[in-house]
Amino acid sequence: MSKEKIFVTKPSMPPLEDFVESLKKIWETGVLTNDGPFHQEFEKQLAEYLGVKYISVFSNGTLALMTALQALNIKGEVITTPYTFVATPNSLIWNNIDPVFCDIDPVYGNMDVDKIEALITPRTTAIMPVHVYGNPCEAEKIESIAKKHNLKIIYDAAHAFAVKKKGNSILNFGDLSVLSFHATKTFNTFEGGAIVSHDSATKTRIDNLKNFGITGEVTVVEPGINAKMNELQSAFGLLQLKEIDANIAKRKLATLLYRKLLKDIEGIRLLEDMADIEHNYSYFPIFINEKFDLTRDGLYEKLKLSNIFTRRYFYPLVSTFSPYNSFASSHKNNLSNAYKLSEEVLCLPISSELSNEQIVFITQAIKK
Ligand SMILES: *Cc1c(COP(=O)(O)O)cnc(C)c1O
Repeated sequence: MSKEKIFVTKPSMPPLEDFVESLKKIWETGVLTNDGPFHQEFEKQLAEYLGVKYISVFSNGTLALMTALQALNIKGEVITTPYTFVATPNSLIWNNIDPVFCDIDPVYGNMDVDKIEALITPRTTAIMPVHVYGNPCEAEKIESIAKKHNLKIIYDAAHAFAVKKKGNSILNFGDLSVLSFHATKTFNTFEGGAIVSHDSATKTRIDNLKNFGITGEVTVVEPGINAKMNELQSAFGLLQLKEIDANIAKRKLATLLYRKLLKDIEGIRLLEDMADIEHNYSYFPIFINEKFDLTRDGLYEKLKLSNIFTRRYFYPLVSTFSPYNSFASSHKNNLSNAYKLSEEVLCLPISSELSNEQIVFITQAIKK
């Protein structure tokens, strides 16, 4: 048993002294929120770092998802995936939109683009895919379906911070992309999130919506919400940006070591890197099938006994939760790939803080 508990992730943090310097500035100015200097600088540096035109930072990713739907006036039905975190469909329900669950590809777990069109009805207004584990969806095909049927595309890009395809940020795909900076994600601001947009009018609309719809001292243009990122989060995010490349490089080394130690084990499937992708190595999922000595849940429980806390991410499928039963039932037979993957997946610990010794220890515990 490992003396120390190894959790599925451990947040990256900047040096405390640096954050204390930021705190001193906040104490000097007395500006705590409302598009303050750290907020403005963070949006600027973030857009540059990510290679996107416009970004609006939020207090968390879920409010960013909800606001993205408002910003594009999405209504009726939205085609999304059951293989995701529950925030994805919850953001639809909070906007009175019906989620329509589309099955996934059996390898990477992204929405199966060949199954989208059959789900389109006269009420469909948008597609909300997820770049699962940071592996990009088939954006060109999704785009051509959306064009043909006059639908919007909002990507839940919560896993996709800094991921590029042939040098271009995948956050530039679709109409909007939504990020999460939750403590468990590759890039964190304690909690936080963002919407990437592609024109200044849309960014302005989003910025109004996240601040009550207020555009001037005596003007409210629409019923917005309060979803602003505050100065503490923004100052922290600016420091995180200095470390992110080094942290992703550490995650990559961890991934390569895991792959080396776990290759060719009967009953364990690993994910290969997709071609032409600069990855962020945000997760290390393995897929346990019947050829392995233990069931997936058996391995999960056994690793716990060694103080290794993995996660079955995503299990159960969101479409099996009670609020979603009725939406899923009409399509249930078509979600077989999603069911299968959710029964097989186990995400092993990965972070910039994970040591080689810990990885060796984890892989030995799996092989035992
Ligand atoms: C983390 C996550 C979210 C929610 O983000 P929060 O910042 O925690 O609100 C949404 N979708 C997916 C796929 C996520 O993993």
